[in-house]
Amino acid sequence: MDPSRTMADSPSPSVIWYRRSSVVAALFFLVLMILFAPLVQYLVGIANREDTLKADYWARAFITRLEGRLDENLAVGYGLEAQISVLGNLEQAELDVVAARLLKDHLDITHVAIAPDLVIRAIYPLAGNEKALGLNHRDVKEEWPAVARAIKSHEIVLVGPIDLVQGAKRRLVARLPTRTMDGQLWGLVSLVIDVDRLFAEAGLDEMQRRYQVALRNVERNSLAFGHILGDSKLFNGQHKVHPVDVPGGSWQLAVEPRQSTEVIGVAMLYWAVAAIIGLLASVAIFYLRRFTLQRESHVKQLEMIAATDTLTQLTSRYQFDENLRQLIEECRRSFQGFTVLFIDLDHFKDINDSLGHAVGDELLVHIARVLKSCLRGYDLLCRQSGDEFIAVFKNVTGTVEIESRARAITSKIAEPVQIGANTINVTCSIGIAVYPTDGTDPVSLIQHADLAMYESKRVGRNAIYFFNMSMRNEVDRYIELSRNIRIGLIRSEFSVHYQPLYSISEDAFTRCEALCRWRQADGTYISPFEFIAVAEQSGLILELGAWVAEQALQFCKELFDQHYEIGFSINRSPREFGSTPYTHRLIKLRKQLAIPPRLITLEITESLLMSDNYMKSENLSTLKSENFQFSIDDFGTGYSAINYLRQYPVESLKIDRSFIAELGVSRQADTLVKVIVQMAKSLNIKVIAEGVETRGQVDFLTAIGCDFLQGFYFAKPMPKAEFLEFIRAHAKQQAGNTQDRQAK
Ligand code: C2E
Ligand code: CA
Repeated sequence: MDPSRTMADSPSPSVIWYRRSSVVAALFFLVLMILFAPLVQYLVGIANREDTLKADYWARAFITRLEGRLDENLAVGYGLEAQISVLGNLEQAELDVVAARLLKDHLDITHVAIAPDLVIRAIYPLAGNEKALGLNHRDVKEEWPAVARAIKSHEIVLVGPIDLVQGAKRRLVARLPTRTMDGQLWGLVSLVIDVDRLFAEAGLDEMQRRYQVALRNVERNSLAFGHILGDSKLFNGQHKVHPVDVPGGSWQLAVEPRQSTEVIGVAMLYWAVAAIIGLLASVAIFYLRRFTLQRESHVKQLEMIAATDTLTQLTSRYQFDENLRQLIEECRRSFQGFTVLFIDLDHFKDINDSLGHAVGDELLVHIARVLKSCLRGYDLLCRQSGDEFIAVFKNVTGTVEIESRARAITSKIAEPVQIGANTINVTCSIGIAVYPTDGTDPVSLIQHADLAMYESKRVGRNAIYFFNMSMRNEVDRYIELSRNIRIGLIRSEFSVHYQPLYSISEDAFTRCEALCRWRQADGTYISPFEFIAVAEQSGLILELGAWVAEQALQFCKELFDQHYEIGFSINRSPREFGSTPYTHRLIKLRKQLAIPPRLITLEITESLLMSDNYMKSENLSTLKSENFQFSIDDFGTGYSAINYLRQYPVESLKIDRSFIAELGVSRQADTLVKVIVQMAKSLNIKVIAEGVETRGQVDFLTAIGCDFLQGFYFAKPMPKAEFLEFIRAHAKQQAGNTQDRQAK
């Protein structure tokens, strides 16, 4: 497959985020709308109920008004009845007068008719109604039941709406049976009511504008049984039917809210609000989703970056720790083991410094490739930092297999590599720790492999070293000692002892060596071999060395003032030459005490002379120019490079006591010591033999021309006061010897 094509075809991450977020937002909107539906319905229901309640109110108000108005109209009938009962009858002229008075404009009565003995004799107003004169109610079959009912019940009976014989349409007719004073039926008073006006006056029009209204007559005996107005279907609906009491009959009113625009409006409003809320929430969800997708993608990217080392593309240290932790977890469950290798390039700094960082980087990339090729696909590898790598052989714990695999690495790395114009030869040192023997957590495993790596560097680089517990103990001891040295310095637990040096030519103790002693608070002595090494490593030697030098110089001054010209040898570590302030402090103190510089010898190591450290060479030269003497300590154990002795003329050298101990035992030692003495003489350098313990050694060294002897044969290192006694006693003895010699 063509990867470029795939890249082009697949949408960009932002498009993917957009699509995914849109789908989520749309789904969210849909769900929200579904959830909103019952709510909107509920709210619309409330609005509907309100409408129905309003309709009921309107219906009741209409009925009240209608009944009131009917009563008002019917009161005209009672008025006429009263007149008739008083006057006995009303002629047309009399009716005109009485009716004109009773029929007020606001009433809905169109005319009244009086019918003594049920035959209409007078009508008000007569005009237009003449046809009805002489009408005998008994002859109108359809109306007779209502008239008969009125007569029988002595009550008004309302009929209609009906069309009248005179032609008027939709009229209500109230039949009022009228009796004489003695209770005999006199006749009938009829009131004709314009039903439309009656309804209009009761507020029908206004009500109809808002509601659907239907009215029907439910009095089966009535002439106008059934529909009065509106749509009869309303009575089949769920809406309330209101009874309307009319004289001698029974009506029903049904009022139903029109599918009111108000409710539709309310529903639409609710839906609009729901849609807006849904839309806003969906937009928020869209952006939120897009933001989280973006963030997830960025986090993944960062994790990728954090998981790889940018230079070598190997697993980063962070990711490696994760993998190692997982591996430990797996091995703990499956009782399996693995091996951690701490790999450090030898002298990488020199390559970096001499060929430049670009070449250094390229070399690291090459090394990463080599290491990868030496591991199996499932092994672990990371760059710890700089030129340090950590590898893990999974399921490998046997020493032989580990060693052969590690050797394969060292030899593969040792192969020359061409980088640009440079052919580079580089080697590596490897430290090895095995899980679970050498550690059960990532920190201790790596730390122990690191310690083993240091050991392999110490034994000469390009080596493999397995971790062992004594290394760990050494580290623990180092930590404990360096802490205690710091405390010891504060608590003045240190002191200086002095060991005399015998001058063969002068037959006198003309020099001494200042040796530091440490008696801890609990009374235990720690050997200088132990604490000096720790002080050197931790840097505390600067403070400790300066203190020893001060003690020695002050004691030298005391002796000098008492006319004992004793030379003082002070041991000085290479590290002390790295500090210019400490150099100046020593120079200043000597000047202050006014001690001749020839009396002060600094015992140094050969390695210091060989050091290419600029600062150390500078400080050495400064002290030399201040006329301090230099002596090479432990001569023979190091490089013994004669050239350096020429380059840095030293006053004396001290043959290491390991050679002195072998004198008379090993012929090789005898020869070597002799050669050293001869060589020193040729360079005009004095020779001191240290560790002289026997008379035989004294004789041998005297015979070969050694200059000074130091050792338990003469005296052990002793405290200041004791040393002073020693010097005094020997000065006297020396004086005696001189006198004896002169006397002879
Ligand atoms: P070094 O400079 O080689 O000192 C001589 C060591 O040999 C001393 O050990 C001394 O006690 C010991 N010695 C002297 N004569 C004999 C003998 O006849 N037989 C045997 N077996 N040993 C003898 P010490 O005092 O334990 O010092 C050990 C080392 O500690 C010294 O070795 C020196 O390198 C270092 N050191 C001691 N004091 C100081 C100091 O103030 N500054 C520095 N930088 N190093 C010091
Ligand atoms: Ca020494």
